[in-house]
Amino acid sequence: FAPWNDPNAKPYIQFDNVTKKFGDFTAVNNLSLTIFEREFFALLGASGCGKSTLLRMLAGFEEPTAGRILLDGQDLRGIPPYRRPVNMMFQSYALFPHMTVENNIAFGLKQDGMPKPEIASRVAEMLKLVKLEQFAKRKPHQLSGGQRQRVALARSVAKRPKVLLLDEPLGALDKKLREETQFELMDLQQNLGLTFVVVTHDQEEAMTMADRIAIIDKGEVMQVATPAEVYEAPTSRFVAHFVGNVNMFEGKVAEQTANTTRIAGSSGAQIVVDNAAKTAAGADIVFAIRPEKIKISSKKPADAVNALEGEVYDIAYLGDMTVFHVRLDDGQMVRASTMNAARITEDPLSWNDRAWVSFRPDAGVVLTR
Ligand code: ATP
Repeated sequence: FAPWNDPNAKPYIQFDNVTKKFGDFTAVNNLSLTIFEREFFALLGASGCGKSTLLRMLAGFEEPTAGRILLDGQDLRGIPPYRRPVNMMFQSYALFPHMTVENNIAFGLKQDGMPKPEIASRVAEMLKLVKLEQFAKRKPHQLSGGQRQRVALARSVAKRPKVLLLDEPLGALDKKLREETQFELMDLQQNLGLTFVVVTHDQEEAMTMADRIAIIDKGEVMQVATPAEVYEAPTSRFVAHFVGNVNMFEGKVAEQTANTTRIAGSSGAQIVVDNAAKTAAGADIVFAIRPEKIKISSKKPADAVNALEGEVYDIAYLGDMTVFHVRLDDGQMVRASTMNAARITEDPLSWNDRAWVSFRPDAGVVLTR
């Protein structure tokens, strides 16, 4: 499933040069974005970046100041929320406290005038879908947070919208339940064959669930890509920092060959990295590399292209992996992590030991912005 790589795939949801202003404040700035049918799409960004505003415009609670939003080729401007094939699930769930679970789920169907027998069978289907059959007669206050979240979900998909919008859907759940529910949401989306657009500030959540992620900053799209691409090939310092941990080797272009660039840091340390794109000599440049791509050892590795010496600053054992901070002799702090499954036990390092960090020229990405 990768319609974004298919030049013939039809766009489903299109933000076309959309701007949204609140008074003088620009919440969304000339933003364009394409989402495909049946995609699980995440809008990821820090608080206030404009991601909820994007969702609210798609739902019809706000209209763009400029630009268009299309769904299946149709311009949505002027179409009221209840006439859009889109439903929104809010963080607060907004369940009716005095109604049972089944009546909460049936509410929208009754309003639409669906015949009673059909409502009953649809509600039963939804209860099964979210595994709440035994809880049909309970009221929301008699449920756990996770169960309430599932009722809200069942209610939002009961009307079979084509698109479900989820604004921080798991925000109220604790970490363990959040993780479980992320997988449940993915399964549900697969089973229903709907298009999901989820807003989150949690990069792990976006990475876990989404087919693709749009990283938003100050009302603009910084990058749209699959979780793996966003992590392995960020196109800017902002994205590299926002998703996962990263080391940045900053410097200036010292020398270029056909495919490599030598970067000179301000303290004199130099590294050589793959860079087929080439960057002008003397330009500011950064090599961004993830902690698990950095090797740490007590002796200088014999064949490493890039090896930098320093001192172990601290070590944290996290169960699945161990994280080292090494303060290089030029002062830069480097984060290196090793998976404990493959940990080399003959080379134990302790706090304050001298250590070498090394990495391959192709283990990270060159960024110029
Ligand atoms: P959060 O994760 O905190 O919800 P967000 O990325 O979803 O943040 P938005 O809710 O889209 O952010 O808001 C984007 C910006 O627009 C914020 O600075 C917010 O203060 C502003 N904003 C949103 N709605 C309005 C409004 N109705 N009037 C004025 N400013 C608004």
